[in-house]
Amino acid sequence: MAERIPETLHKKLSERLHFYKDLGIRLFYKDRGAPHARTIATPAAESFEAPISRQISREEVALSKSIRNPDLSKAPQPPPRALPTQVAETAPRVPHEPGPLAVPAAPSLFEAFGKVPDDTLLRIRTDLGECTRCKLHTTRHKIVFGDGNPKAELVFVGEGPGHDEDMQGLPFVGRAGKLLTQMIEAMGLERKDVYICNVVKCRPPENRAPEKDEVDQCSPFLLRQIDAIGPKVIVCLGSTAAQTVLETNRGISQFRGQWLEFRGRKLMATYHPAYLLRNPSAKSEVWKDLQKVMAVLGLEVKKGKSAEAGKSS
Ligand code: URA
Repeated sequence: MAERIPETLHKKLSERLHFYKDLGIRLFYKDRGAPHARTIATPAAESFEAPISRQISREEVALSKSIRNPDLSKAPQPPPRALPTQVAETAPRVPHEPGPLAVPAAPSLFEAFGKVPDDTLLRIRTDLGECTRCKLHTTRHKIVFGDGNPKAELVFVGEGPGHDEDMQGLPFVGRAGKLLTQMIEAMGLERKDVYICNVVKCRPPENRAPEKDEVDQCSPFLLRQIDAIGPKVIVCLGSTAAQTVLETNRGISQFRGQWLEFRGRKLMATYHPAYLLRNPSAKSEVWKDLQKVMAVLGLEVKKGKSAEAGKSS
């Protein structure tokens, strides 16, 4: 049975991690490191400067692995295919890497689900309806379905709506959202060019992490969204999104910045903007990740431009 870290323990862990961070100890997992920075972009440590928020980071807390059993409501389910989970040239192995791979060696339940033929965002939204499938509906104000270009080459997947998103019905419109917008603009894109969504579509109370039953109910819609959009690249923002989609309980820093494959698409996990608000020094790592994404999308950063767009606030 999947377990969630109790809120009190979560808080204690978070405080402890912040304490360690204050001591200068930042990462608790050995990062495999990013491949060499591409020459197309100018790394900028202070890229997406924004005010530090009080949001709690969950980036270094390995959440319990959940066994997903999504109901794709009549979606065909072909036999699982043997997908490589890491794209070889950008996923160097570290010989002393402990334990199993960061992502399952066999196709996950997510991977095994087939596509809904001719699916569209409109149809998915209609199927979602005024959803009451999980308990989050009792406290939400608005469903946050997702927003952006329905044919985007780049999809960002976050964790779940916060207060501002819940009020507006739009993803990433609060502080973390402002930073995400700056990150997108630093890539030479606008929000309307990409698609932004979350693992769960309703705000978890007190911004807690989504629970297994909530993710189970909601994730089929996320998968359908991804399939319907058909992006070249999926970027998972933060550990919840990455761990959910990849079905791993590994800390995100173990596979952050590496190219993985998900449902035949390139996937990269990077830190959540809320984490960056608390840990601005990690922005340079995220910027490196985004540069890799830009390279795949054929985007070019003019020298010196980098992420200056994000420096204002
Ligand atoms: N954080 C998320 O993960 N998603 C949002 O939409 C907003 C904040």
